[in-house]
Amino acid sequence: MVHLATQKSRFAILVIASLLILWSSVALAQTKPLGEITYRLSMSRPVSHLFEVSIEVQLAEPLESLDFQMARWSPGRYAVFDFAKNVEEFRASAGICPPKSLCDLSTRPVLRVDDQTWRVSTLGSDRLTISYKVFGNDLSGTFSQLDARHANYNGGSIFMYIVDHKADPVKLMIEPPAGWRIVNGRMEKSEQREWLFPNWDLLIDTPTEIAPDWTKEDFQIDGKNYHVVVHSFGNEGGKRAALVRDIERIVRAETILWGIPEFDSYTFLIHFAADDVSGDGMEHLTSTQIIEPGALADSGVYEDTLGTVSHEFFHVWNVKRLRPVELGPWDFTRPANTRGLWIAEGFTNYYGHLMLRRAELWTDAQFLRRESQTITQIESAPGTRLMSAEESSLVAPFIDDAPHAQRTDLANTAISYYPKGELIGMVLDLLIRGRSNGRASLDDVMKRMYEEFYLRSSNSSYYLRGRGYTTDDFFRVASEVAAIDLSDFFKRYIREVETLPYDQAFGYIGLRLVREVAPEPYDAGIVMDFGHAEGAVIGDVRHGSPAENAGLEQGDVILSLAGRSVTQDNWMKRLSRYKQGNEIPFVVKRDRQNVRTTIVLGAPERFQYRIVERDDATAEQKELRRAWLSGVKEKGGKGNLGLRSGDCGVGIADCGVGIAEWGLRSGDCGLGIADCGLEIGDCGLEIGDWQLELGKKTERLFHLLPSSNFQSAIPQLAIPNSQSAIRNPQF
Ligand SMILES: [Zn+2]
Ligand SMILES: [Zn+2]
Repeated sequence: MVHLATQKSRFAILVIASLLILWSSVALAQTKPLGEITYRLSMSRPVSHLFEVSIEVQLAEPLESLDFQMARWSPGRYAVFDFAKNVEEFRASAGICPPKSLCDLSTRPVLRVDDQTWRVSTLGSDRLTISYKVFGNDLSGTFSQLDARHANYNGGSIFMYIVDHKADPVKLMIEPPAGWRIVNGRMEKSEQREWLFPNWDLLIDTPTEIAPDWTKEDFQIDGKNYHVVVHSFGNEGGKRAALVRDIERIVRAETILWGIPEFDSYTFLIHFAADDVSGDGMEHLTSTQIIEPGALADSGVYEDTLGTVSHEFFHVWNVKRLRPVELGPWDFTRPANTRGLWIAEGFTNYYGHLMLRRAELWTDAQFLRRESQTITQIESAPGTRLMSAEESSLVAPFIDDAPHAQRTDLANTAISYYPKGELIGMVLDLLIRGRSNGRASLDDVMKRMYEEFYLRSSNSSYYLRGRGYTTDDFFRVASEVAAIDLSDFFKRYIREVETLPYDQAFGYIGLRLVREVAPEPYDAGIVMDFGHAEGAVIGDVRHGSPAENAGLEQGDVILSLAGRSVTQDNWMKRLSRYKQGNEIPFVVKRDRQNVRTTIVLGAPERFQYRIVERDDATAEQKELRRAWLSGVKEKGGKGNLGLRSGDCGVGIADCGVGIAEWGLRSGDCGLGIADCGLEIGDCGLEIGDWQLELGKKTERLFHLLPSSNFQSAIPQLAIPNSQSAIRNPQF
């Protein structure tokens, strides 16, 4: 995308020349890549939290000036943070000083054009070095941190881009403090200190950790290398080995759905911050940054980490490669607006949970309980009836961890596309499964989307393979895969705010949704905020609620409820001792005054939802449910194949995605050994589904066999090991 200021200057040239032909040559000249761009990153005083960045530019042809710009936000988080506010000591010089040598470069004038842009005049020089420092002291998936323990950066918050040259290849050189080691998702060798990136967008897609004491464990699946890098600031309680093993299970479950990923290696960059504050997860093409606020030994941290892993790894496909059209390349001078975050983030939430079940880290009951909680969350939010999933996506810059200096009414008006999209994903999945009698599913929709827009579309930009999809593209593909017209569904539940058809969806799988009054049925319409020194501060008040009727406001501090103080633990318990029609005296502090009022309770306000078994669930419905939760289709409900767990399947790979990973060429078609270690069904193999193509001839596949019987049944084939593929097998 073109920076606005540059568009204006181009327009001026156009007017003066008033020749169209000159316009095109000027436009071409200006978008021509610069000669070379090298970023150097050092950190000589970690305790200062100042990253030292220099950008060396070799011009291919003379230019009057270059604009260096700090992004307003960075991909994956939609709130605007204005990273330029942490830049200091911006300087420009002519020439490129050889690294680590003293040289005296002459300075070049710098004009601060606007809050995010620095313009450097070349004064005829074809080589420039600019340097600046960036303050970074936040351990996060968006910001950066440099301190005595480590440097952990997300490139968007520290590296400027050169306006109009975001598409140019860039080199990065990092000089770590003595004894600190560098790791990121694009390591080609250990001790690596230099990287080449095809463009700036990929430079900032590569979060990097630099510290003396991180650990790394590896595993391989389908020939791909996975690295689990952990930097712990607290006690691990001996849980790390199990964590790596469970991450491996998640990767297996997700690659069974999507097929073998296209990268060679992928890195989980995990911090256990042990500060009770920092927490995040951020997706990238070949890595993820995961930050847990606790220590690994703490209760619940292990489970939270796996939940984040499951979500972020799903993004390898959904959002990083299969992406809404607005998600890359980006214009970093304004927030991104996309209609598709209920797919990109919401479906990832849904599958993040479902994959924990399919990886057998959760039971059916755990998964259904988690989805029940999301239903309770969405159906209790006042914004549910005001804001659609699509609108929620569009206002992501307001609701994705956005800081608000001004008080807002978002608690009453907004919903998040995460839980809303999660429920749309689940309900849509069940409707497709139910209406197609298990023939199709949302899994199939997502795989078709990935194939059509990522693998098969021609590249729409320099940034990444394929093209982004529109929500209309999704509606079309979903309807095609399901072989049913879903336009009514999309209109009512995605573009409008109707309650999702839970009963219909759960009915297909012999379940139903129960709505019941919560054990603590009253909040009086108050959302408390206990994160203040004053104590029980009213964070938000629901419109039309008993609290609003009693004159209570955002910011009031509750001093007493019926004469007694309230705490985080007892607030709702105290209130819920009362019933409809009861009058409860409140004293609040407002503007240094004590204000007395009385809340009159109405009908119960708080409800909870549970997904439960239907008494009349049929065998077919139970079979559909099993296929949904396990991810394994079984035609005609034939049950198992006589295979035992760990038997490992022999099958014919299909000729679609991933065949090359088996060492097969296109047209070879694949005879391969399915991945071991999971139930045969989990390999995605089904009797009768698999066919062998040799040349143009399509033959019926032999049956699947337990691996122990395979060689005796088909003695012509030599099987070196269970991971191998065999080219051009002879029968
Ligand atoms: Zn670290
Ligand atoms: Zn996400």
